[in-house]
Amino acid sequence: MGHKKIWLSTPHMGGNEQKYINKAFEENWIAPLGPNVVGFEKDLENYLGEGVKVAALSSGTAALHLALIMLGVQRGDEVICQSLTFAASANPIVYLGATPIFVDSEEETLNMSPYFLEKAIRDRIKKGKKPKAIIGVHLYGMPYKVDEIHSIAKKYEIPVIEDSAEALGSSYKNQKCGTFGDLSILSFNGNKIITTSGGGALVTKDAGKKEKAIFLATQARDQAPHYQHSEIGYNYRLSNVCAGIGRGQMEVLDDHVQKRRNINDFYKGLFKDQTGVKVYSEPKNTYFCNHWLTVITIKGNANPKLNRERLRLFLEIEDIESRPLWKPMHLQPVFQDAPFYGESIAENAFTTGLCLPSGSNLEQEEMQRIGDAINGFLKEV
Ligand SMILES: *Cc1c(COP(=O)(O)O)cnc(C)c1O
Repeated sequence: MGHKKIWLSTPHMGGNEQKYINKAFEENWIAPLGPNVVGFEKDLENYLGEGVKVAALSSGTAALHLALIMLGVQRGDEVICQSLTFAASANPIVYLGATPIFVDSEEETLNMSPYFLEKAIRDRIKKGKKPKAIIGVHLYGMPYKVDEIHSIAKKYEIPVIEDSAEALGSSYKNQKCGTFGDLSILSFNGNKIITTSGGGALVTKDAGKKEKAIFLATQARDQAPHYQHSEIGYNYRLSNVCAGIGRGQMEVLDDHVQKRRNINDFYKGLFKDQTGVKVYSEPKNTYFCNHWLTVITIKGNANPKLNRERLRLFLEIEDIESRPLWKPMHLQPVFQDAPFYGESIAENAFTTGLCLPSGSNLEQEEMQRIGDAINGFLKEV
């Protein structure tokens, strides 16, 4: 039939990206600074609201690394991190010689469990070390339990780094994700809701912290005519060419969010009569999810043939990509020695969960193919 593969999520250009890039070429702003970087930061600041300041960086991982540095995390410190996440949330803790303390998820949003978070904090304090920071993640665009997590953080006076890499365009109680943390981060990697081909940002409410982040991201040069350094710096600034893509992408962000939300509705319709299949969506109307990826779990159905792995393989034969959820960090070989607080919520989500194609550029005919394949699978089991 000669159809092409359907992917989970691919870059989706709006059309004006090229215009901003051409301008960078015309004006010879190819260096990692220039008007697109400043413009992209302004676009993000206006979009997020709440008076935030944004520093555009080379990746979300770089933003997390700088956030931890700015909170003073050092060798021997402990940092609490949601276990069910992409490894990039946790790796920068280890870059600094600190230890990640992993916390389980709750069922409603699959994000950090407030119950196990508090348990972890109390136990670490009892063992003699108060955690230096908490990394909460809005996984697959679903806001974590913002009120609960932040009130616990406040009670113990521990700053929160909000990993909003997957959640640009999501909000909680009408406030945008990416504005809740003491420091927050965004990612513009190729598969995210908008892309700069590779990029990220650090978000803060403090203009001085934005300046500090840019200082660290550009090799920490002191004010002097020669190159002088009193601190260790990094090469983490976003380039002016990449920021040009970002400016074009900001023009279509809300449209992309709407498309991904429609795709989530489409999956809800497909699975509505299937006991044991849960299509994740907002637990309450105070949550607004960009549905970066639609997530389903398949469990507790009387028919053992209706399971995650069989659906994944069925879709693969139809040339449709789907993927298990992130494997929890506490189950990763590289983090086997890190402490974990929880039960098996994240682990069960990993063994029963599947991410389905959710790209904002999916065409009608591709949705039809996905629908036919899933209906075919459901009929067969
Ligand atoms: C993508 C991602 C990151 C890292 O962002 P990069 O820009 O790829 O470095 C961090 N956390 C989560 C949850 C992510 O999905």
